[in-house]
Amino acid sequence: MERIKKGDTVQVITGNEIGARGEVDRVIRGWHVNRYNERGTRNPDGNKVIIRGVNIRKKHQRPVSQTRTQTGIIDMELPIHLSNVMLVCPSCDEAVRVRFDIVDDKKVRVCKRCDAPIDNV
Ligand SMILES: [Zn+2]
Repeated sequence: MERIKKGDTVQVITGNEIGARGEVDRVIRGWHVNRYNERGTRNPDGNKVIIRGVNIRKKHQRPVSQTRTQTGIIDMELPIHLSNVMLVCPSCDEAVRVRFDIVDDKKVRVCKRCDAPIDNV
């Protein structure tokens, strides 16, 4: 079950960008490749999120082909490890831990601080 999903607002809790908030653009799931299982196994060390407007670096993008539209010095967001961010509760506007509740056979995320549901049921 995913604690943090695309579209959530999260807050960075450690590192250079401590305190920064933004919307999750992409969640990257880490995998170990092994020879016993085609899909590999999950690697929590690789679980990262890209947050819009947070952890921006300048990247010098060289033109390679006509299809690459952004060239020169561009801004891009670098992924931050999932453990370094916390979900921001829409109700109490704090960085909170989440709990999972079952509502109508659906698992929903609930704020541990104010008990408000985070997902719309
Ligand atoms: Zn809350």
